[in-house]
Amino acid sequence: MYADYHLHCEYSDDSNEPMENQIRQAIASDLDEMCFTDHVDYGIKRDWDDPEGIIIRHAVEHGKEVDLVLANVNYPKYFAALNMYQKKYASSISIKKGLEFGIQSITVDAYEKLYASYQDDLDFVLFSMHQVNNLEFWTQDFQKGKIQKEYNDEYYKEIYQTMQMFHHYSCLTHLDLLARYDENGIYPFENEKDIIAEILKYAIRDGKGIEINTSSWKYGLKDTQPSRAILKLYKDLGGKIITVGSDAHETKYLASHIKDAYAILKNEIGINEICTFDHMQPIFHKI
Ligand SMILES: [Zn+2]
Ligand SMILES: [Zn+2]
Repeated sequence: MYADYHLHCEYSDDSNEPMENQIRQAIASDLDEMCFTDHVDYGIKRDWDDPEGIIIRHAVEHGKEVDLVLANVNYPKYFAALNMYQKKYASSISIKKGLEFGIQSITVDAYEKLYASYQDDLDFVLFSMHQVNNLEFWTQDFQKGKIQKEYNDEYYKEIYQTMQMFHHYSCLTHLDLLARYDENGIYPFENEKDIIAEILKYAIRDGKGIEINTSSWKYGLKDTQPSRAILKLYKDLGGKIITVGSDAHETKYLASHIKDAYAILKNEIGINEICTFDHMQPIFHKI
């Protein structure tokens, strides 16, 4: 099984890549299966049909002033497109329907409602944390004014709290995400080991998996994401459910380093299986 389980396209507000381009690239890359996981980030983004309207964020990108339109996936159009392409490309690739929930403890209710509306459509849900108290990591708004220990402690506590409130997901995504945006360098795993162990134990009891996010290569991280130490701990605690995804927002990165991640799992972590999902149920495959 060669599968990319974290993909974005035009239905994410931070991607312009047509869904069909991603599918064609996946077929050209000889993937057996691909799962789209477009973004939902309640709190900082609204739904396309929210009566209060969409949110515009003023930003400077590459020295130019731009207005970014922040909106979640247009779910009816997204699932209709996925159903259509599933049929069109059925003989070439298996296409699965997922979403990436950028969840926080303060937005759990919105995800409960969303999941209730689309649970029959969904094969797979990623549990991500991209912001805490609506403060984004990638903009440094969350980290600002805190020392490295403070923002790391707060981030893992928020994940632990939120995962006890919300259960409609498949895998914890890029679990050490702060490492991607940490201007203070690598924060030692040992400092957060206890809370990470609690997170992983809870996930295992709850039947949840973790994801290897291969965009770590693109971001120039020295380790995998999550780190090898976290992957080993998950395995040692009895965890078995692992997916691997490129997090590609454009065809250039589709399936990028997925095979490297498989090799690391096998040769360094001692895990010989990865998962795909069908209607939220894991299916195990030898690698
Ligand atoms: Zn993410
Ligand atoms: Zn993503």
